[in-house]
Amino acid sequence: MCSVFGLPLFAAALLACASALVSAPAPTPAPKLKAGFAYADITPDLGMEQPGGYGKSFHRSFHDACKVRAAVFDDGRKIAAVVGLDLLAIPRSVVLDARAQIEKATGIKPDAVLLCASHSHSSGPIGMVQPGEYDTADETVRRLAYEESSMADKGFLLHLARQITLAVKNAHATRAPVSLGYGFGHEDKVAFNRRLRMKNGQSWSHPGAGNPDILGYAAPIDPQVGVVAAWDARGQLAGVLVNYACHATTNPGGISANWPYYLERTIQGALQAAVPVVFLQGASGDVTQVDNLSPHPRPGAEEWAQQVGGRIGAEAVKTILLMARSGEATVDFKSTLLSIPRRAPADSTLTKARAVVAAGKPKGENSEWIFAKETLMLDHLIRVSPRVEVEVQAIQVGPAVFVSNPAEYFVAYGQRIKQESPFAFTFPCELANGCVGYVPTEEAFGPNGGGYETRLTSYSNLEITAGTQIADAGIALAKTFKPDAAPTRPVVPFSGRPWLYGNVPPGVR
Ligand SMILES: [Zn+2]
Repeated sequence: MCSVFGLPLFAAALLACASALVSAPAPTPAPKLKAGFAYADITPDLGMEQPGGYGKSFHRSFHDACKVRAAVFDDGRKIAAVVGLDLLAIPRSVVLDARAQIEKATGIKPDAVLLCASHSHSSGPIGMVQPGEYDTADETVRRLAYEESSMADKGFLLHLARQITLAVKNAHATRAPVSLGYGFGHEDKVAFNRRLRMKNGQSWSHPGAGNPDILGYAAPIDPQVGVVAAWDARGQLAGVLVNYACHATTNPGGISANWPYYLERTIQGALQAAVPVVFLQGASGDVTQVDNLSPHPRPGAEEWAQQVGGRIGAEAVKTILLMARSGEATVDFKSTLLSIPRRAPADSTLTKARAVVAAGKPKGENSEWIFAKETLMLDHLIRVSPRVEVEVQAIQVGPAVFVSNPAEYFVAYGQRIKQESPFAFTFPCELANGCVGYVPTEEAFGPNGGGYETRLTSYSNLEITAGTQIADAGIALAKTFKPDAAPTRPVVPFSGRPWLYGNVPPGVR
């Protein structure tokens, strides 16, 4: 049947080309895009700490490897690296270390390197406490930090910077001409806002399925699956980038990239291409896989990881299959440093925390003790570093922009950045280039707010306008770039000839 269409379409395409040649003004020479993709391994050892909570936990089994997935884009004038990391978060010290090594190895500028952690809660020991961070604290607080909190492994941090450098170096070395496609899929059945409006007027995190005091979700999710795909000169898929907002807390059991493992497997399997899938975590500070309004039993850990990663991956595949492509894309980058003060606990909160800690850690339920410990640790941090360095960065690739921040950033901010960005494809990337804990909306700190993410801890403590400052900075950076037009498919005019098998009245008899 195709042959029936073939000739007229081909002729029409030729005509369209010819008229374009005649009428188009002389184009300025467009940059030719090159890209490279590469992996490096960052799987922690068994027995290492598993960060993600406020106490210690250790890895006891292995599920799948944790990786660095690097994409390097080069338009002939500027080069940028967009890197996804199977990590809970990335400490600022590792960012600075890796960027310096990358610049030495490749010449890629430090502020052209985006390092985005997936927030995998089943990955290597990068925190929460950093080496030496509490060395000048009093003995009690030092013990709380080093013995009662999860700690980064100094050797693992050094290894991490080397492996990030290795992946970027290999992606840079293997960059070759590509065409890129961009798109959004839609997935709204695996991610849920975990903050719920309660009858008491507050908003609580995970109040429990079936809780009769729940009124409804306190905020939305962002169902967009942002996708960029690259094809090499032979038309073979070379790499994929996916941006989606959902905590990576579907721990499938043991060391794991978490659900992004199934995201990558789904895309690789469906498209029969063993290429890196660079996952970039969206603004998901208040979004997880848990539906507090679902009356049904929760899936098992493995099944849940498959559901989340599989559905987002399948949506990415659907998006990739319909993409228009272009071999040209402007690459640009900018970053800015904000200095944001921490919130300090009230004197009465500190006095109470000292008493709770002095009374000793209770066996069993100990949340009051945990947050008292956190208050004392925060008190030390305020003394040694009352302000926090917050990097906001934007990287342009054609009609797409990656706007990053180092927070566990509430979804409403991600949506605002998308709305106010001049780009057709805006991808907010959280937990990037450092880690400053949860950054809730200002509304969440108001009389109808509350919940886990608004607790004042050594991890989450920026002043309440931090989220707005970060969004303003990211939008301002995106506005300094000139977005390329999104690739489109050529428009083919009517050939003047319908299909001769089909242009007939009904054959009733
Ligand atoms: Zn989190």
